[in-house]
Parts: sequence; structure tokens; C-alpha cells
Amino acid sequence: KMRTRFAPSPTGYMHIGNLRTALYCYLIAKHDHGDFILRIEDTDQQREVEGAIDLIYQVMEETGLHYDEGPDIDGGVGPYIQSQRLDIYHEYAQKLIDLGGAHYCFCEGELEGEDPCLHLSQQEIQDKLDAGISHVIRQTIPTTGTTSFDDEVYGHIEVENKTLNEGILIKSDGYPTYNFANVIDDHLMNISHVVRGNEYLSSTPKYNLIYKTFDWEIPTYIHLPPVNKDETHKLSKRNGDASYQDLKEKGYLKEAIINYIALLGWSPADEEILSLDDLIAQFNIEHISKSPAIFDIDKLNWMNGMYLREMPLNQFHELLLPYYHSITRKVDLLELSKVLQPRLEKLSDVEESIDFINQAHPFDASIYTHKKMKTNPENSLEALELVKERIADFDDFNNDEAMTEFFVNLAKEKELKNGRIMWPVRVALTNKSFTPGGAVEIAHILGKEETSRRIDQAII
Ligand code: GLU
Repeated sequence: KMRTRFAPSPTGYMHIGNLRTALYCYLIAKHDHGDFILRIEDTDQQREVEGAIDLIYQVMEETGLHYDEGPDIDGGVGPYIQSQRLDIYHEYAQKLIDLGGAHYCFCEGELEGEDPCLHLSQQEIQDKLDAGISHVIRQTIPTTGTTSFDDEVYGHIEVENKTLNEGILIKSDGYPTYNFANVIDDHLMNISHVVRGNEYLSSTPKYNLIYKTFDWEIPTYIHLPPVNKDETHKLSKRNGDASYQDLKEKGYLKEAIINYIALLGWSPADEEILSLDDLIAQFNIEHISKSPAIFDIDKLNWMNGMYLREMPLNQFHELLLPYYHSITRKVDLLELSKVLQPRLEKLSDVEESIDFINQAHPFDASIYTHKKMKTNPENSLEALELVKERIADFDDFNNDEAMTEFFVNLAKEKELKNGRIMWPVRVALTNKSFTPGGAVEIAHILGKEETSRRIDQAII
């Protein structure tokens, strides 16, 4: 049975690359009706951040990446938190030593060249252990031969064993390194497909040597391309690049984030707007790319806008309600949402779009000048005076068609293009050149009283 695992280290945030890996693990398993396992890799106690594990649970839950087994869902191969598996690592480290695949090492710091501890006698080792000398367990690497494997994305990889370093498997504090724990856990948890970032590609031959020494079946490897912010730089939180939480706070929808992230390293056959279910149905390993993916915020903006436009108005309105708290005037909020829906790319843009509602911006005569509308401050003043005079008798502010007709008729009467009337009204009501909706929508949102007041004010 297909079994994949997402194995995050609880270091404080879910960056985009992490989430992409989680998503691909999930999609690969679910496409095949397999199991998706969550394993917490907390063996580097120094890097661990409080609350990080909860954050991982929260993001998995929120994005719908439901795991079949994990710390809180037992599938019989737990515990699923590495710090609770120390006995298991020690047991297997000892077995590996007995099989000749690892050895005790009492050297301090990095090794240069061959490990002198390889030549210690059984007795010498025992004496040092008995004396309580600090030690690690290192992998023993054959000095001859090659190790090779076929990665599903990167193809055939072959290295000479003598180029591999004798890395630490168990640290002096008794914790395993990733290099050891990943092999033991992936085997004991029956992981069939190892899906992870390509930074592990070059160490994989070392892991395979461990599998071979134990005579275990080597899993299928799917190494994923990095997510970069441009041609040469990786995305990284340290450089202030976005995490999932940042994107959520900026007002991106989780559906859009997941959809966009799925495309960072994989290409669908045609349509790019895909729900999680669509992704499960369509995801295929063959279309994972080996070249770095570029995180393109403009494309995410576009995609988020697509999702906002496609949801029912009521649902969109619900999402916006929290952003409307700053509005102090009584306006038609549902109408406001209707006007915003086709235009908005992300929720956090709302504030700027609606800032004219409480109060028009400070007066700026230059905005009345619009080349295409053929308006300038002088002819705008004439238009506004005409509107002021006639709007007193017009009451149908909730009817966009009627109001459009009202403005169009004024223009006709004076033999002007519609813009000569509508642009000045839009500016008078907002003092902005970019507004959600035109004169009709804005007058509708503001209502008759406020619209009239702002036109009066613009004329003075
Ligand atoms: N704990 C590793 C990391 O967060 C996981 C690598 C893997 O998926 O094997 O980078």
C-alpha cells in the first residue's frame, strides 16, 4: 500500500516550501488511496520552538491535509514524535554496530579523513564507555564500491562510497540525527514513498547503505525541487519571505494558497484552478519538475482574485464583515461587497478600497483632470453644479439602473459624453482616482444624504 509521510521539524513556522512538501505527500498518497502520515522530527532540541508543534497541527487541519496517522491518531507504528522514540533508535544503532554499519566514536569535533576510532579494539571501546567518555555513534562507510538509486524526479544517482562522509547517527546527547532517524522511522512506519526536499538528495546514498546493511527494502524516492523567490535565491523565512501564516494574515484564502502552492513544482494537464479534490484526482509524480519553482506573488494575487470572484456573494460578504468594522457611517454594506467582489485580489486590500467611506480624502483638484474623460477642474465644477441642482429630485439611490439613466440623461441633455458627468461625481464623492465602482455604485453605497453633502462640499 502507498504510504507517505510529512516529517516537519517544529522550528516555529510553516514556510511555503514545507507546506508544498506536505501537500505533495498528501496528494501522492490520496491519489492512490494510500495513507498519509504525520511525523514530528524534534531531535534537534536547540532549534525547537515552543508552540511550533501546535502550529503544525493547526495548519494541517485548516488546509484540509488530514493525516491518517500521527501523534494524535495511532496507526500502530508510533510513537509519531521522534523524541519519544529514543529507545528504538538506540536499539537499532546497536544492531547496526553489530552488523558493521556503524561504530562508536570518541573524537571531538569534525573528522578529517578516516575516523581513528574505526581501529579501536572491542576492549578499548568498552573501557572508554565504562569510563563515561563522551561519544557519538557514526556511520561506517565502505571505502570501495558505489551506491546508486533512481529518484522519481531526478533520475539515476550514483556516487562512489569513498566520497560519503562518516556522519553522526547518534549524538553525544543520545538523540539521533536526521540521517539516522529518517531511515529507522521510514522503515518501521512502512513508508513506501519518501517525498521530501531535494536538499536530501545527496545524503540519500548514505541512507541506502543503512537500508542495505539491515537488509531492508529501500523506499521509492521523490525529491522535490526548491521553491525560489527568483532565479538564484531560495525562499526563506530568515529573509522575511512568506510563511503560510503570513499569507493568511495578508488576506489570502486557504483554497487559493493551496491551489497556488500545488503548482510550485508540478504542472497540471490543463486548467490551473483546482480544488483539493481536483488536485487529488489529477496529481501525478511524472509532472513534478526538477527545476526550481519560483514563488510569484502576482500569480497568487491573480489566483486569489479568481477564488474571491467565484464564491457566492453572501459568502464573500461574510469574509469582508471583519474588515468593515472601521466604517463609522451607515452604508449599504451588501452593495459594497457586491461592488468589491469583481475587483478585489486579496482581503487585506479592502481597507484601502473603502477608506473614502468615512470621509472623502483631502481635496485634490488635479484628480478632476482626466484625459480620456475630457474633464478638468473647470468643466467638472459646471457638471457638479448641474448634478447638485437635479439630484435633489432624484430618490432612487438603491436602483443602479435608474441612477445610471439619471446621469446619462444629464449628459445627453448637455450633449456631453457620460464621463464628463460621471467622473466629476466619482471624484467629488471620494477624492480618489482609484475607487471600487464608479459614480453610480459609490452614490448607491453612500446614500442620498451623504452623496448630496459631498457634492455640495466639492462645489465650495
Ligand atoms: N525534518 C525534516 C525537515 O523538516 C524532514 C525531511 C524529510 O521529509 O525527510 O526538513
